[in-house]
Amino acid sequence: MIAIEEAQQIVLSRTRFMPMEDVPLLQAAGRVIAENVHAPWDIPMTDNSAMDGYAFSSTTSVREQWVVAGFIPAGSEQTTLVAPGEAVKIMTGAPIPPGCDTVAPIEEVEQTTNGIRLVAKVTSGAHIRRRGEDVRANDLVVASGSVLRPQEIGLMVSLGRTEVKVYRKVRVAILATGDELLDAGSIPVSGRIINSNSYSLAAQVLEVGGEPILIGVAADSGEATREKILEGLHADILITTGGVSVGDRDFVKESIQALSGELLFWKVNMKPGKPVAFAILEEKPVFALPGNPVAAMVAFEMFVRPAMLKMMGHTRIFRPVVRANLLEEMKNGGGRPHLVRMQVTLKHGVYMATSTGNQSSANLTSLTQCNGLMKLDANTTITSGSSAEITLLDRGFEMGETAYGTS
Ligand code: AMP
Ligand code: MG
Repeated sequence: MIAIEEAQQIVLSRTRFMPMEDVPLLQAAGRVIAENVHAPWDIPMTDNSAMDGYAFSSTTSVREQWVVAGFIPAGSEQTTLVAPGEAVKIMTGAPIPPGCDTVAPIEEVEQTTNGIRLVAKVTSGAHIRRRGEDVRANDLVVASGSVLRPQEIGLMVSLGRTEVKVYRKVRVAILATGDELLDAGSIPVSGRIINSNSYSLAAQVLEVGGEPILIGVAADSGEATREKILEGLHADILITTGGVSVGDRDFVKESIQALSGELLFWKVNMKPGKPVAFAILEEKPVFALPGNPVAAMVAFEMFVRPAMLKMMGHTRIFRPVVRANLLEEMKNGGGRPHLVRMQVTLKHGVYMATSTGNQSSANLTSLTQCNGLMKLDANTTITSGSSAEITLLDRGFEMGETAYGTS
């Protein structure tokens, strides 16, 4: 039995980057870019007005008064020289015409009988956005390896791009095992349960940015298990759930070995999620996760998620860890580290946490209440009121329910 961290290292050392693909920019949102993007031109391309107002030469009128001799709306330009003593009305974004060096906003001028006069002090050069002040031609604007947010998408569009190179999404085949399993939507009869793991795992895959492929259920036999495993190898990763322990009906591990898979570990020193195997089969990573619903999800969280993120080019592949004040005593009298499901709250900038109650690995409700995991070492007690590190699984609880800037 190996430690969680060692198992993670083994997984990461055996996962490879996905191939790259060119996709339309909107499909690249949230993904990792696999090329350096340089600017082909300056932004702005020309000096232009930052305001709706009047453009003129600040050196040509001692009386701060100008004759209005033209109009330049956004989308047009004036290439003829604006004469000394003349101003042109100009809209935001329109290029500054030759002969002008300053813009006075509409609010800071007054109409006169034949033109305009300043009513406020406007400094020479004011209200002009300079060519290249945002981006200069040849600048590196988005570096390979960055996660693309809306602002990077917009910037690349403004530089003429419609497609970008990213790492392909990981396709993850999900195989459930067990004669007791019924399809989603069934009404269970005694002794049977609905295959919920395929769905919770698929939703985890989606959350990581991968593409889940549900390949159904393998009956509890070696032959059926091997057949379905081979089907799953068409994907980039195969996840199985259940049938990986030491029961009479656990065929997953032996099937992987029968198919000449390289078994890298089986059993990790953690609770929940001990019966978990990792193998390479026909060059594909295979994660054999436990059957218990909580154990399956926690094992996904610990091993599959970081692997998928790494494969898709992410460098930040682990969840954030915060220090929280414990609102109850936490005790692990057993010999394995516990990954305790925690409910974390934030009050006045301080994190506080309690366990989600019954920690049975069969009870999915211990996860529906949960937004954090705390690793509680074997034979350890942490007293109520002391602080501990908690890995945050989602940060929705930090979002405000009141308007920005209020509390
Ligand atoms: P196993 O490791 O196959 O013995 O499964 C352990 C427990 O998890 C058993 O109670 C199974 O019924 C349950 N289980 C296994 N697979 C699933 C699944 N796909 N969805 C929900 N529960 C499952
Ligand atoms: Mg089973």
